[in-house]
Amino acid sequence: MADKKLPFTKTEIEKIIEKYPTPFHIYDARAIRENVRRFLKAFSGLPEFKEYYAVKACPNPAILRILKDLGCGADCSSMAELILAERVGITGENIMFTSNDTPAAEFQKARDLGGIINLDDISHIDFLKKHAGIPEIISIRYNPGPRRAGSNVIIGNPEEAKYGFTYEQTFEGCARLRDLGARRFGLHSFIISNDIERSHYLETARMLFQLAAEIKAKTGVSIEFVNLSGGLGIPYRPDQEAVDIEALGREIAEAYDELVRPAGLHPMKIFAECGRYITGPYGCLVSTVLHKKNIYREYVGLDACMADLMRPALYGSYHHITVMGKETSPATRVYDITGSLCENNDKFAIQRELPEIEPGDIVVIHDTGAHGHAMGFNYNGKLRSAELLLEEDGSVELIRRAETLEDYFATVRF
Ligand SMILES: *Cc1c(COP(=O)(O)O)cnc(C)c1O
Repeated sequence: MADKKLPFTKTEIEKIIEKYPTPFHIYDARAIRENVRRFLKAFSGLPEFKEYYAVKACPNPAILRILKDLGCGADCSSMAELILAERVGITGENIMFTSNDTPAAEFQKARDLGGIINLDDISHIDFLKKHAGIPEIISIRYNPGPRRAGSNVIIGNPEEAKYGFTYEQTFEGCARLRDLGARRFGLHSFIISNDIERSHYLETARMLFQLAAEIKAKTGVSIEFVNLSGGLGIPYRPDQEAVDIEALGREIAEAYDELVRPAGLHPMKIFAECGRYITGPYGCLVSTVLHKKNIYREYVGLDACMADLMRPALYGSYHHITVMGKETSPATRVYDITGSLCENNDKFAIQRELPEIEPGDIVVIHDTGAHGHAMGFNYNGKLRSAELLLEEDGSVELIRRAETLEDYFATVRF
């Protein structure tokens, strides 16, 4: 059973709301730190392990600084994400640049910062050579296509995914990059998403370890690091179990001994690019109930909307909901919990059993610490909410102010 506790009481959150009006996302610094330490420890049985946090999951400098202080790098995929990493002092090989359909200027920026470029396509070799030059260290993103019969709601079938090199292209790409002057090589693949079945992440590791051995045998290129990417899931639902991360760490270390050492690739570095697993459970969206509406169904309307959290509308995702002060009240009602967009999919929950809710109640939507605020948008002229950081001493810092109408109108002229 996943723990759906919150890092504040009703009285504490009411005090925070006095200063920072709802809606806002609030992140739990202590829990993030504890989770990162535990994650890194789980993989400490490997010769060298590094986590490159997927910046897109929560692109806030305050969060990136916490992660940097614990030794994490940044996985970037756009100009803005590269600049964000640079501005918080994450540079050089602490940057992994895993992009696709990449503009020349972004390859140049990644090169300027000394980041590791993870190429998405074989044609990008010549594009990179022309626009930024071939670096000494380079990584290839592998798409196993029909070699992996996996399937997943968010990433889908690898054969239908736009990412990566094919099996054959991976060998050709390694040889060509070597001929063009690359000396240090990495291998990456991203084939699961929000997956709480740890054996699937282990499969990615085994697949890449085997591929690294084949590359060495066929081309003579020694892979220096394998990047297992992200995709580890979290228990959004209370009846789901969190990934046993210590067991996963042990299993990957066993696979390393079985596949990497005999191939003569030891010591090989292992990288991860997890976003959701690192911060997902340690943020929540805090909102206030504006209206109750009773028609063919009962609706509860919040001051937050899908501009603040798109996952339920985009993927039909479950996000747990707590009504502050009614944690132990019986769930006697069935509600659709909505925002104010003129889109009927602007619902945080559909037909959810909850205690009786009244206007003014504080409703907390759980697990918004990754792919939450970050996905926000401005449709319908809705403004994105603030982000707060709850520190270990109980203090609260505004780490992103709420958008204003001035922000919204900044790009047009009347
Ligand atoms: C989105 C993404 C990640 C992080 O995914 P999570 O599900 O948050 O772990 C890592 N690497 C790449 C290339 C991505 O696009």
